[in-house]
Amino acid sequence: MSELIEKRFEKGGRYFVSPQLEMCPHVGHGFFTREGGVSKGIYESLNFRYTGSDDKALVEQNFKRAAEQIGGGFDHIVRTCQKHTDIIEVITEDKGEYRQVGVPGGCDALITNVPGVVLAGFYADCQLILLYDEKHHAIAAVHSGWRGVANRILAKTVERMGQEYGTQPKNIIAAVGPSICRRCFETDDDVKEILFEIYEDQVPDYFYKEGNKWHIDLKMLTYSSFIRLGVQPYNIDMSNMCTCCGEEGLFWSHRRQKESRGVHAGMIMLKKV
Ligand SMILES: [Zn+2]
Repeated sequence: MSELIEKRFEKGGRYFVSPQLEMCPHVGHGFFTREGGVSKGIYESLNFRYTGSDDKALVEQNFKRAAEQIGGGFDHIVRTCQKHTDIIEVITEDKGEYRQVGVPGGCDALITNVPGVVLAGFYADCQLILLYDEKHHAIAAVHSGWRGVANRILAKTVERMGQEYGTQPKNIIAAVGPSICRRCFETDDDVKEILFEIYEDQVPDYFYKEGNKWHIDLKMLTYSSFIRLGVQPYNIDMSNMCTCCGEEGLFWSHRRQKESRGVHAGMIMLKKV
């Protein structure tokens, strides 16, 4: 398991990439931060959120900048519609139109084997996970907060890639973006009970109590899910950075800022080679 590495837009602004995906000639990808965009005020600067009061034209420019940075085009971006579901959408063709899928039911994971399609997912404490099957050339973008960890959206996505493309976990290269750390993910008994039931055997390692609050290490629960699925440890890159207690100018955090914030995007695309 390696840490993500920092890159920069030409005009400034940091974002992060997986060292392993970065070495794959067929893939473009990035985990974007608050930096490098055109939005103003509380959305400064690289905001991907339409549901707030940010100017939609500026949000579109932000999408365009990020997509171009990974070698893709604005019209070819396909976005999740995240509602903490376990719904996975299979993108079967490059329609060449900027679009969102899964409405109104929601959609928290996207998979495709179509070159040129830019899969985009969003995060502001939750995990955004990017997958690449290097044997069958298929990709995924998966949004997984604690509810996603509870509904096993990662395992379901890998399984679906198996059905659609013949993906085997041993061929997957995985990258997990910046997300909330175990110190900041403080929760009550209800959330703990739900996760306890599913990850009972991992309770001593990844759950602890301070005062009357529980702290749960979602990063390590995801890592351990990868290992159980059969993904090779050396094929997993994961950010240790925390969106909540990390650098405020770099990250938005739902827990720290509530609704007065933007949202980050992570993107992945198969290149036309
Ligand atoms: Zn933290």
